[in-house]
Amino acid sequence: MLAETLALAPSGLVVVIVGLLGLCVGSFLNVVIHRLPLIMEREWQAQCAELRGETAPDNPPLTLARPASRCPHCGHNITILENIPIISYLFVLKGKCSACGEPISPRYPIVELLTGLLSAYAAWRFGPTWQLAGALLLVWALMALAAIDLDTQLLPDSITLPLLWAGLAFNLSATFAPLPAAVIGAMAGYLALWSVFWLFKLATGKEGMGYGDFKLLAALGAWLGWSMLPAIILLSSLVGALVGVTLIVAARHGRNVPIPFGPYLAAAGLIALFWGQDLTNRYLGLIA
Ligand SMILES: [Zn+2]
Repeated sequence: MLAETLALAPSGLVVVIVGLLGLCVGSFLNVVIHRLPLIMEREWQAQCAELRGETAPDNPPLTLARPASRCPHCGHNITILENIPIISYLFVLKGKCSACGEPISPRYPIVELLTGLLSAYAAWRFGPTWQLAGALLLVWALMALAAIDLDTQLLPDSITLPLLWAGLAFNLSATFAPLPAAVIGAMAGYLALWSVFWLFKLATGKEGMGYGDFKLLAALGAWLGWSMLPAIILLSSLVGALVGVTLIVAARHGRNVPIPFGPYLAAAGLIALFWGQDLTNRYLGLIA
């Protein structure tokens, strides 16, 4: 078992190994963030064409694994040497495509670095335990969801729903929360935002958020238990409101342009995963 091998290794080594693993996963997450919305769009197009009785548009096959990564400008195939997380961007490519010289978005190395750092932190925080395995899964899924939501204002069901089930599965043995707290968390998470959605819609006639947000909060409730939900909602709304007001004041964003809520939920979920227990204890301490 990997967990048993890791348990024998010194903790510093575990942090380094998991950090390096996180960098590589971050590199894969870049592919997911870029391709999953494209794959979903093609499926919708195919379904719409089928409903209209037309033949589906004949696109070249696209999956997460195939074709190999290419430069979006010139189609140059990314070589193995150009695909090392962070290192390639900084030292081999120096931020440009080796074939056409077009700048490569710094988002790619940022996603890799952030995933690596959060993975290493999880290893340091939880040590070689089942909690670490769960935390890594949650961190990676939240990274992908936040970035896809920023890009496309979508939180794909193909990530949020398995994430919810995975949270319940991990909590069968109370890894992060007792199972009843996780089940109630999943239901309460969905219902909380669903109610806000309908209240807002009845009051203003506008849709303030999407169903993906309900599913994401349900997943966070399944992972962390219902008692973390108030903190997650409070944190995400506070940060979301701050950023939203800043954007509107800076006039770069119209008041009616929707601002994705997923990234704030994801960030609040990470804070709750790592420091939620401390925060709740302190808060309860303040009340008592
Ligand atoms: Zn190129």
